[in-house]
Amino acid sequence: MFKDITVAVDGSDHARNALEIACDIAKLYEGNIHLVHTPEVQSTGIAVGSGAVEILPTDAAIQDAGHDVMADAVKRARAAGCEPKNQIIGNGRPSTEVIAAAKDTGSDLIVMGRRGLGGVQSFLMGSTSQKIAHDAPCAVLTVK
Ligand code: ATP
Ligand code: MG
Repeated sequence: MFKDITVAVDGSDHARNALEIACDIAKLYEGNIHLVHTPEVQSTGIAVGSGAVEILPTDAAIQDAGHDVMADAVKRARAAGCEPKNQIIGNGRPSTEVIAAAKDTGSDLIVMGRRGLGGVQSFLMGSTSQKIAHDAPCAVLTVK
C-alpha cells in the first residue's frame, strides 16, 4: 500500500524512531524511503563587555552539520535493511522542504517525529511536525 515514504530527519531521537518505523513499513510493502533533512541555523552568544555578540555559524559549517545528520540517517536505514532511494538536503523552512520532497518523490506517506531537537516542551507537537501534518499532500505518521 505505501510505496514511497518520505522520512523527515533532524538528528533527534524522535526522528530516529520515525526512521526505524519507516524502514519497517517500506520492507513490509516493498517500498522506497526518501530521506529529507534541512540544516537549521543555531546561533550562540558571547558576552562582550556589558553587551553580547551573536555568533552565527558559517554556511559551510551549517552544510557540514546537515551532511552529518543525513549520513547518520543513511547508516541507520542501511542497518535496518533499507537503502534510501533519495537523500535530500533542503535549504529553507524545514516543513516546506519536507512537503516539497514528498511531492517531488510522489510519496504516499510522510513519517516524522512528534518532537525534534527544539528545547521548548510546552506543546504536544513541535512546530515543524504541526506544519507538516497541516500541509501534507498524503498520509502522515507521527512517531513518539
Ligand atoms: P520546535 O522546532 O518547534 O522548537 P521540536 O524541535 O521539538 O520543536 P519539530 O522541529 O517540529 O519539534 O520536530 C518534529 C519532527 O519534524 C522531527 O522529529 C523530524 O521528523 C521533523 N523535523 C524537524 N526539523 C527538521 C529538519 N530541520 N529537517 C527535517 N525534518 C525535520
Ligand atoms: Mg525543531
